[in-house]
Amino acid sequence: MHQFIQNSKSENQIFDVKKIRQDFPILNTKVHGKPLVYLDNAATSQKPKVVIDAIQKYYESQNSNVHRGVHFLSDSATNSYEEARDKIKNFINAKSSKEVIYVRGTTEAINLVAHTFVKPKLNEGDNVIVSLMEHHANIVPWQIVCDEKKAKIKIIPINEFGELKVEEVNNLIDEKTKFISLVHISNSLGTINPIKKVIELAHKNNIPILIDGAQSVCHSKIDVQDLGCDFFVFSGHKICAPTGIGILYGKEKLLEAMPPYQGGGDMILQVTFEKTIYNDLPYKFEAGTPNIAGAIGLGVAVEYLQNLGYENINTQESKLLNYATEKFSKLENVRIIGTSKNKASIVSFVMADIHAHDVGTILDQEGVAVRAGHHCTQPVMDYFKIAGTARASFSFYNTLEEVDILEDAVKKGIKIFLG
Ligand code: PLP
Repeated sequence: MHQFIQNSKSENQIFDVKKIRQDFPILNTKVHGKPLVYLDNAATSQKPKVVIDAIQKYYESQNSNVHRGVHFLSDSATNSYEEARDKIKNFINAKSSKEVIYVRGTTEAINLVAHTFVKPKLNEGDNVIVSLMEHHANIVPWQIVCDEKKAKIKIIPINEFGELKVEEVNNLIDEKTKFISLVHISNSLGTINPIKKVIELAHKNNIPILIDGAQSVCHSKIDVQDLGCDFFVFSGHKICAPTGIGILYGKEKLLEAMPPYQGGGDMILQVTFEKTIYNDLPYKFEAGTPNIAGAIGLGVAVEYLQNLGYENINTQESKLLNYATEKFSKLENVRIIGTSKNKASIVSFVMADIHAHDVGTILDQEGVAVRAGHHCTQPVMDYFKIAGTARASFSFYNTLEEVDILEDAVKKGIKIFLG
């Protein structure tokens, strides 16, 4: 009944969710005898068959190390690995493939920037600005470098809707501010931050800025040149690609000036015991044998998303968000945490005094997979004075029927715990 069919103007193709679901083999799984309802997409997305096939093809017919070999297989692996980099460059509209660094994921990318770009610039009394709604991956690396350099972290506050108090950014910035690192979309609240505004403010004050795009690349078209940010980071596994691969985008001029993060093979041009000459970008930051299959899989994943079209993805996800929000707003004993006007398809909620893990366990019995806990955003939980939430996060392959199943499972939970 709720099947969504949409004709995209830009891609001019039919977006048929039932058909798209067939691309994802895991969605046929039965859980406790019931169909899997996978609503944990903010933790990791499922993988389409084209991505799984590309990884299998690599191991079956290309497996070899990249860059170093003169033989057929190494050439084939290197070509696919570098072609993937070009696809990702186009996907985020970087100026050059040199600006696209393969890393393990968002966490590694932030640590890399914290240690090689920011730490050398920090002096005692300096500060780095983050927001209250950051994932721990965008808090702890800054604590580590700030502790070491006796610098401080300043925090952009949020309001009761889970929105960034963007007007506070200007008050926080002072002559000792050396860097801003801000999440694009909050993983626990779904809030979409006005990053362009903050990037402009940062640059007006000559402060470089990193955007944590872990939750945004799956929902919105990213154009790093249009955004103008200095660094943009994301993880492949949240956009239909494998785990263990992610991207650090950085402006070429900045990356050129940064020292390497790790030393080892592939990141050098020449090594003697007296002196080592580092390799050019992007290899300077890619020490050791990389995640070759992961990179190839990421290249295929970004193509898959581009073929679906972000216009279609957004329309479907908005539909799911609105439908779920409407239903949850009417449920007694359920409170949505994160009610920003500008929101991605994430619904975090608490059910009376019931522990989030108990909620998650009840939902699991109905085949519904949600995340329960603090979602690696403990300061957000502290702000709302809660221990955790249950979080349903929707992807373009979810259906309105699945929202109905979620609602029924929540009602069942309420009955069990509250009578
Ligand atoms: N930042 C945000 C907003 C996230 O949601 C996550 C993961 O959930 C991360 C950073 C860390 O990503 P990863 O664990 O893939 O490095």
